[in-house]
Amino acid sequence: MKGQRRLRSRRQRTVILAALRETTSHPTADEIYAVVRAQMPRISLGTVYRNLETLTEMGEAQKLEFAGLQRRYDGCTSNHMHVRCDDCGCVADVEGAALPDLGRVVPSAAQTAFKVTGLRMELTGICPNCLG
Ligand SMILES: [Zn+2]
Ligand SMILES: [Zn+2]
Repeated sequence: MKGQRRLRSRRQRTVILAALRETTSHPTADEIYAVVRAQMPRISLGTVYRNLETLTEMGEAQKLEFAGLQRRYDGCTSNHMHVRCDDCGCVADVEGAALPDLGRVVPSAAQTAFKVTGLRMELTGICPNCLG
């Protein structure tokens, strides 16, 4: 029984990761849920959320998180830059642009008393759809 449950949760995670890797739309948890539910009708939104968090912790996915905006996920974990539409909120990759190295932004530990754990940065603009 316990083994079966573990097997099911591993399968859920695999399906969620596959759905995330299949798209370049940087979906929200709700969007991933809609895709995954077609394959696993009994999965819950909470399970999808939990697995997306786990995948992020495992380094299999990236979380795009900005204050006041719905959290999005990216199946591509390489260092790349994003641009977000101010109108519809869609997110796209910026070809050939990478986030600056943390060591360059904060060269010395003396610059902040914080233990720096990451860098959030993205471009904003109007997407081609919204430009019309
Ligand atoms: Zn737009
Ligand atoms: Zn991306």
